[in-house]
Amino acid sequence: MKQSLPKLTHADPTRHQRSLLRAVLIIIFIFSLVIGSINVALFSAYQIATFNFISVLVSALIWYYYHRSRNLKVASWLVTGAILFNLACFISLAKGGAYSLIWITIIPPLVFFLLGRRAGSWVTALAYSATLLYLYVNLSNLPPLSFGTGAMLNIAEVMLVHWFLFRHYESSRKSAYAELAHLSESDRLTGVYNRGKLDALLEQTIQEVQEKHTPACLMLIDIDHFKEVNDSFGHLVGDQVLKQVAVTLKRNIREGDAFGRWGGEEFMLICTHTELEHANQLAEDLRQRVMDTVVTEKGPITISIGLVQIDPTLTSTEAIQFVDRALYKAKASGRNTVIIAQSA
Ligand code: GH3
Ligand code: MG
Ligand code: MG
Repeated sequence: MKQSLPKLTHADPTRHQRSLLRAVLIIIFIFSLVIGSINVALFSAYQIATFNFISVLVSALIWYYYHRSRNLKVASWLVTGAILFNLACFISLAKGGAYSLIWITIIPPLVFFLLGRRAGSWVTALAYSATLLYLYVNLSNLPPLSFGTGAMLNIAEVMLVHWFLFRHYESSRKSAYAELAHLSESDRLTGVYNRGKLDALLEQTIQEVQEKHTPACLMLIDIDHFKEVNDSFGHLVGDQVLKQVAVTLKRNIREGDAFGRWGGEEFMLICTHTELEHANQLAEDLRQRVMDTVVTEKGPITISIGLVQIDPTLTSTEAIQFVDRALYKAKASGRNTVIIAQSA
């Protein structure tokens, strides 16, 4: 029965880029440290190991810079530069052998994500052009592409990087879309559904009533003398009262019911699969709960409710007209009351 009010998230839109930047720096740091140590200990390859340890140092310095400045743009360019430099060193040291050139394919998913469409396009174009030029100039000197363990490792590692980058890309896109969808149907102040969403849900409910002949009811709920709250305590307190009323109502409805802010100090509740008698009991309960829960220095806040059963002959406009009229009657009869509309 209990529900918490949905929160409107205002998440940092660059959070996915920031997390990718951190992940890339950690990977470069650990990867270069391990490979550098192996190159020294097992292969006595000091030249390559020097590059590895320079990468360790550079990634640590970029990390330090980023954590001090929080400047995502500069840090992203630094990481891109460091990776391009690393690849260039690696490919020229390997002389294009052991499928080292395949590493250039990690550039597009990385730079498009970190630098955006424009800069990502340029960097990719430059990196790919440089690779083609390298191939053209060195084509005659390139060792034949033998398929050894080194080649296999390079291919597997590049596949792993692709998997990681595209997975990151997709989860970022998905969560941005979900956030947008949530924001587009939520009321900014209270976090409950907004009018646009309520309109859509009302149409959906009416269609279900017509097709399946299931019972459904509609309520329009209006805070009594709300203007006095604003006039006495100011709009900020008025906003807090609106939020409290929204929370109280939301907590006391059933999970399947659709609840939102219709506008100003008015809320709408669509009760699907509910007979009029039960909806009336719920309305009385909500009225009582708001009065018991939301209290200002001038006394309890009360609500008036108009209620109508949605029968299959009603359009959404008619349903709203009926419920509006019932609410008007509730106000006229002294407020803090529930009135059922005579829809027939
Ligand atoms: P009644 O009992 O007849 O409904 O009287 P009322 O004062 O509640 O109704 P009225 O329509 O006269 O005033 C509604 C007030 O609600 C006026 C408007 O400034 C206020 N209001 C609407 N939206 C908001 C909001 O988002 N925040 C605040 N603080 N006030 C709002
Ligand atoms: Mg009103
Ligand atoms: Mg009012």
